[in-house]
Amino acid sequence: MRATPRGVAYGVPDYALCALRALEDAGFEAWVVGGWVRDALLGAPCHDVDITTSAHWREVKRVLGEKSIPVHETGTAHGTVTAVVDGKPIEITTYRVEGSYTDRRHPDEVTFVDDVSLDLARRDFTINAMAYHPERGLLDPFDGLADLGSGLIRAVGTPELRFNEDALRVLRAVRFACRLGFEVEASTQEALVRCADGLEDIALERIGQEVDGIVRTGRMGWALMAETKVLVRAVPEVGPMVGFDQRSPYHAFDVLEHTSRVCRAVEEFTGGAASPELRWAAFLHDVAKPVTFTQDETGRGHFFGHPKVGARMSEMVMRRLALPHDLVAPVRTLVRLHDHVVRPTPRSMRRTLLKFEGACPGRAASLAFALLDLKRADAVSKMPMCADYAVEIDGVERALRRELASGCVYRMRDLAVSGSDVIEATGIKPGPGVGLILKGLLSAVVNGELPNDRRTLIESMRIQ
Ligand code: ATP
Ligand code: MG
Repeated sequence: MRATPRGVAYGVPDYALCALRALEDAGFEAWVVGGWVRDALLGAPCHDVDITTSAHWREVKRVLGEKSIPVHETGTAHGTVTAVVDGKPIEITTYRVEGSYTDRRHPDEVTFVDDVSLDLARRDFTINAMAYHPERGLLDPFDGLADLGSGLIRAVGTPELRFNEDALRVLRAVRFACRLGFEVEASTQEALVRCADGLEDIALERIGQEVDGIVRTGRMGWALMAETKVLVRAVPEVGPMVGFDQRSPYHAFDVLEHTSRVCRAVEEFTGGAASPELRWAAFLHDVAKPVTFTQDETGRGHFFGHPKVGARMSEMVMRRLALPHDLVAPVRTLVRLHDHVVRPTPRSMRRTLLKFEGACPGRAASLAFALLDLKRADAVSKMPMCADYAVEIDGVERALRRELASGCVYRMRDLAVSGSDVIEATGIKPGPGVGLILKGLLSAVVNGELPNDRRTLIESMRIQ
């Protein structure tokens, strides 16, 4: 993404103008700032509007309150309130500077100031340190527009000082570089590497938010190679992957480079629209290779059990980073199944769907397709001779589509019998036993041992 550095691609939305005008009519100064300005200059989809103002937050509350605009005190310690106009939130923050950061996380104090350029100077990157006003135009004291044009992430001020103040900025730099497809400017990059250790002082859930943000850009493949040290500090399990020689005839690359290629390949196979779970699974699918590595007498490397161990490690990494269960569960399952054998047969497809349904109820079909994309990506990221497997997967995908279209059985509710049939046929009392019997029947139908026929299933229960 590159800016056409001529001006904003669209105007400040009316709901935000309403708050901005109210503040200025009351004699204060106000600017739109940060992400909205950056994205409007890039012509990227419209971003939430943040306003920065000379008004103290109490004044903001009073002025907007007089216009019947609801205002919530969302961060008054930092001078921030949130106004809601036409149902849309606008963060409004008083111009401020930050004191020293003795803990490298939180400023010891914030001081409100009356000059917008001081407020811009406390911001992290030049592209995030621009203010815009519909009449006064762009305020760009650090040449953010030029950096947007040339695709550079550059710290405002002395990079090392800025990263030492707040080490989270190290990950923010990588996230913005990934999101925008930018490079990190040379002196900012040097400081990133020198200051990455500071991430140790940052709360794990904040690191998790940023790493998840990086994964979701679809550019983790780039980040792993270009920003290795930063990622090793954020996710220490990446460390042993760096330069890990697989000693395998199937592998042309070390574990890190292979992983990076798989991350890139899942984007190629999905037209850049891989789901977050597929992106995370690509990132972590081989995380257990270093710990499961063995060599046979010929010197060849093996990684027995790495999908299973990797699934546990993926879960550990993601839980430590406080990521939500509905993301962790599918990632863990994709990692566990990434080497699972799939064939273009109805039975193989039903078995695969059954495994996903058991681990992530309701999401089996989309995860089965994600697994096939992961397998394709894995295949094209090994030795050239392995790439043919990606073509075989096309046949498997056709089989999966056919099975799903034919209404195949892989969920309890697809069975031709229900819990009450089980109770009636076996005389068993309602309880967990009923579920176990249904599970057994489902497995038999999925494996083709019994037809999904009500009478036959009831009969089979009677016999047992
Ligand atoms: P996003 O689309 O990711 O929300 P954004 O630019 O709006 O992008 P926010 O994290 O919402 O990013 O922060 C809003 C603005 O606040 C940023 O543009 C930047 O100017 C400033 N900012 C946020 N976090 C920091 C930080 N850790 N250090 C310095 N400035 C920051
Ligand atoms: Mg934002």
